[in-house]
Amino acid sequence: MPSPQEELLEIAKRRLYGNYRPAPVVFVRGQGCELFDANDQRYLDLCAGVAVCSVGHAHPALVKTIAEQAGRLMHVSNYFYNDQAIRLADELCRRTGFAQAFLCNSGTEANEALLKLARRHFYGLGQTGRARVIAFDNAFHGRSLGAVSMTGTPKYREGFGVPGNVTHVPYGDVEAVKKAMGPDVAAVIAEPIQGEGGVFPAPAGFFASLRALCDEHGALFLIDEVQTGIGRTGRFLALEKDGVRPDAIALAKGLGGGFPVGAMLTTEKVANALPPGTHGSTFGGNPLACATALSVLRIVDDEKLVEGARTKGAALLRMLDELVREFPNACEAARGEGLLVGLLLREGFVARDVLPLIQREGVLLIAAGDRVIRFAPPLVVTEAQLAEGVAALRRVVAALDAARRGAA
Ligand code: PMP
Repeated sequence: MPSPQEELLEIAKRRLYGNYRPAPVVFVRGQGCELFDANDQRYLDLCAGVAVCSVGHAHPALVKTIAEQAGRLMHVSNYFYNDQAIRLADELCRRTGFAQAFLCNSGTEANEALLKLARRHFYGLGQTGRARVIAFDNAFHGRSLGAVSMTGTPKYREGFGVPGNVTHVPYGDVEAVKKAMGPDVAAVIAEPIQGEGGVFPAPAGFFASLRALCDEHGALFLIDEVQTGIGRTGRFLALEKDGVRPDAIALAKGLGGGFPVGAMLTTEKVANALPPGTHGSTFGGNPLACATALSVLRIVDDEKLVEGARTKGAALLRMLDELVREFPNACEAARGEGLLVGLLLREGFVARDVLPLIQREGVLLIAAGDRVIRFAPPLVVTEAQLAEGVAALRRVVAALDAARRGAA
């Protein structure tokens, strides 16, 4: 008799469009930082659906809000206002100092809005020659044709006839940005830390230099906080650390805590760049999504999750530093901020190949780039759970290390 999980996997193979090559495990429920598969096996979730489930799975307050809002109002239309969208826009602006919020359904959509905003801003000013965007190698901004035109990894772009007018330069390289700058540049877009690109931080002063360059050339400065926002790095927004003000930012992932919500936040300067009727979506700003995001923000406050990300993230980094010291043949470095942390493996190791071994230990982690094992746990994770995850990772790394030494 096939197990419930085997039965589901057999159907998945035939019916699900397999664009992500998922691991052969089917999840049916979650609680906090734990997930349970169709055979009721427990896993410790230290990736939170790539930094999405910020308040953990099935948080009671979030579940209650979603149930109540579903019973009150789920959707109207963007041709009318709804109370939850107004409150969410106000709340996001109040917390971040931005002037207005455009509400959408994903990180891709938030970045697509940034791109359209930048080009339409200059079109509105009669500067039709300003449409080029500077983005970075290894950046990830999403997979719609607009967003993927800014994404910097060739494998995501190949074969799709991706529209042009985006110049990619090495991340962290101010001189390269200077060289790429010109009177036709509408915007520079960057992640505060490259997430998919390998939990890769920018050198100190990089964002201040980008801001200055954009000001000097009259271009907009855009920041993608989709992976880093909502407390992930130990600050509500990652870029707060640098004290640099972008003209607009993209948010998603952790904002909905597992529910699809995205937002573009804009300053006054570009608030009218997309005049009414020029951009929108059916579901963007729907009351169920907005009530969910508001609930996530309340939980982030009530449980002091931003501060928690800072202290627990520091503890995690210490544990991984120790691992690097213990197994220098397998591990090169640990890096990251708050609860967005990566373990860089030595040349020759492939992070994606190591993941199934960790999964066998009952722990879920994800890769970032080719050689980085990424931690992006729910912000409600405990230090004990992080230690459990690192202990499992240690067993796997010890085996890799022994295998490499055996082969040498
Ligand atoms: N920007 C960044 C920085 C991301 O990490 C991601 C998702 N990994 C996206 C955009 C795309 O977001 P979504 O998958 O919600 O469209």
